[in-house]
Amino acid sequence: MNIVILTGAGISAESGIETFRDAGGLWENHRIEDVATPEGYARDPDLVQRFYNLRRAALKTVKPNAAHIALAKLEHRLLRQDGSVTLVTQNVDDLHERGGSTDVIHMHGQLTSVFCTACNHRWNHAQDIKTGQICITCKTSDTTRPDIVWFGEMPYHMDRIEAALSSCDLFVSIGTSGAVYPAAGFVQMATAYGAQTLELNLERSQGSHYFDDSQLGPASKIVPQWVDAVLNEN
Ligand code: NAD
Ligand code: ZN
Repeated sequence: MNIVILTGAGISAESGIETFRDAGGLWENHRIEDVATPEGYARDPDLVQRFYNLRRAALKTVKPNAAHIALAKLEHRLLRQDGSVTLVTQNVDDLHERGGSTDVIHMHGQLTSVFCTACNHRWNHAQDIKTGQICITCKTSDTTRPDIVWFGEMPYHMDRIEAALSSCDLFVSIGTSGAVYPAAGFVQMATAYGAQTLELNLERSQGSHYFDDSQLGPASKIVPQWVDAVLNEN
């Protein structure tokens, strides 16, 4: 069985990372336009750097929960049975990796990666981006920004994601509001390619009616239950 899984902020909520739709459209008390758009960054780069520095530092205080760990187990077990799990996440945290998943597709970038807007070099960076930060390649200062896909920017790895959707048997969406495109359209794409579709979420999401089935509840409970059911069937 080939499964494509899409995760969103809801899978990390019980690890202590805030989602944003739930809090009235704010992300940690900031308007999305201020901290998650290229225009916001152009207007006030210091605020945006501070915002992501705090999110990056907060990673050190959280741990993967049972849902992240169950998805890693599913990946490793299906691989042994000639199946596959393609794990696509909208999350910018590193909890899937720390939960044991390998090859996580971060379509909206990662907090622990940065890039230089002058030379496009990308590198791993677990600390704060400081004022005057110098690019490790071209040595320009203040051109290092978080490697996060902001609203209005092109998500990463779309070719690979579409290829996986076109050949999967099952598409599963976990902890995502279904409000952010193109990820919100994956369910319709998977359906068009003939896959079954399942939503696992705390409550019905905006695109709930596009799914063949919905299971509702906290991710730390319903994801391990679903993984065990899949592994028992296979
Ligand atoms: P969202 O905040 O828009 O929606 C979260 C969804 O998860 C909601 O439908 C909610 O009902 C559900 N949810 C909340 N708690 C849950 C739980 N315990 N178990 C199961 N479901 C639960 O998130 P989104 O759809 O991922 O879109 C938000 C965007 O914001 C993403 O593109 C992402 O880049 C960014 N973001 C990332 C993080 C992160 O990396 N952890 C956190 C906040 C925002
Ligand atoms: Zn550079």
